[in-house]
Amino acid sequence: MNSKYFMDLEYEFGAHNYKPIPVVIERAEGVWVWDVEGKRYLDMLSAYSALSHGHRHPKIVKALIDQLQKVALTSRAFYNNVLGLFEEKLAKFAGYDKVLPMNTGAEAVESALKVARKWAYYKRGIPMNDGNIIVAEGNFHGRTITIISFSTEPQYRDGFGPYTPGFKVAPFGDASAIEKLIDEKTIGILVEPIQGEGGVRVPPAGYLKVLREIADKHKILLIFDEIQTGLGRTGKMFAWQWEDAKPDILILGKALGGGVYPVSAVLANNDIMDVLKPGDHGSTFGGNPLAAAVGIAAMEVLQEERLDERARELGDYFMSQLKLIESEYVKEVRGKGLLIGVEIKPEYGPARSFCEKLAQLGVLCKETHEQVIRFAPPLVITKEEIDWALERIRKVLTEPIDVPSVKKSLA
Ligand SMILES: *Cc1c(COP(=O)(O)O)cnc(C)c1O
Repeated sequence: MNSKYFMDLEYEFGAHNYKPIPVVIERAEGVWVWDVEGKRYLDMLSAYSALSHGHRHPKIVKALIDQLQKVALTSRAFYNNVLGLFEEKLAKFAGYDKVLPMNTGAEAVESALKVARKWAYYKRGIPMNDGNIIVAEGNFHGRTITIISFSTEPQYRDGFGPYTPGFKVAPFGDASAIEKLIDEKTIGILVEPIQGEGGVRVPPAGYLKVLREIADKHKILLIFDEIQTGLGRTGKMFAWQWEDAKPDILILGKALGGGVYPVSAVLANNDIMDVLKPGDHGSTFGGNPLAAAVGIAAMEVLQEERLDERARELGDYFMSQLKLIESEYVKEVRGKGLLIGVEIKPEYGPARSFCEKLAQLGVLCKETHEQVIRFAPPLVITKEEIDWALERIRKVLTEPIDVPSVKKSLA
């Protein structure tokens, strides 16, 4: 059975909420994946950072299998002998008193919003159930109804109302615009340190630091969604470290699962996390023994292999080489560490066609926000592998393009 068979099967029986690049992956190892025809590709997307450790990292696979042989699921009705070890490791690793374990990113964001709201009503005296949280235009925090309620992307919201109230939106990268929205009912500020889905948008230097100062001044919570930027991706273990702007609540996901399992978490100190009492919040799968074992291994690999430093060094190299490509199609190359966006000028069509060409040449990446090619390879990638990709990227960004609409507009 060939690739087409599997694509047709998904098309027939799966909801059409995705439009994947037409590659059907059958197996993977490290930074490489193979399709059902046996063709090899370099994974330059790494599941939006969830595969920062590479595919099937041996140490993480071993942790998963070892745990699977003992106990996989207990629910939180009982204790298990792995969760506490995971929580201790993550709390110390990220520098917070407490961890709230969840599964997916959106769930962790929802959980953080619940914690922040409860803190505001019980500790800060904001009128019960009447607070607001300030978010940034262009945000991406997941797909639940509450989260899409404060999305500014029409497609994410359209047809899914009524929406959850309690959010205000400020332009991304503009700290004073956020401060102007603060009133006596403001609970906190929720932003991504770099907007990933929003098009790899890097805020002006000092933005995070000023947000920290604003939050302190108004005694509100600073909440960073580091689901995509955290765990080494930007060249620091956490993107907030670039500006020493430690948030009150930190949200992690994606790479926390080591590329093999969904693991997410909310971190905060006791004065905030203590608002949760037994029964207030929960998850059947959150904090299960498999997730905990995988999470521990994922953190160990990050530390042992210094993946944050790799991201910094290789990210600098990759970005400088991308900037050297003389392409009339490219408007801007931007990013931090190994989270890099190449913005294509709109007159040359959407970034999608460039991603499809790259896939044909064996480089997997995905457009975000129409015009941006996002490169976010596994952090275990080598310089040689980046060079391999660069050869192909250079070709696609410099060869004449055959997009019919572009030919027409150039004629
Ligand atoms: C991916 C992502 C999410 C959502 O995570 P899911 O696991 O897909 O629910 C939330 N915030 C950011 C910044 C993300 O990149």
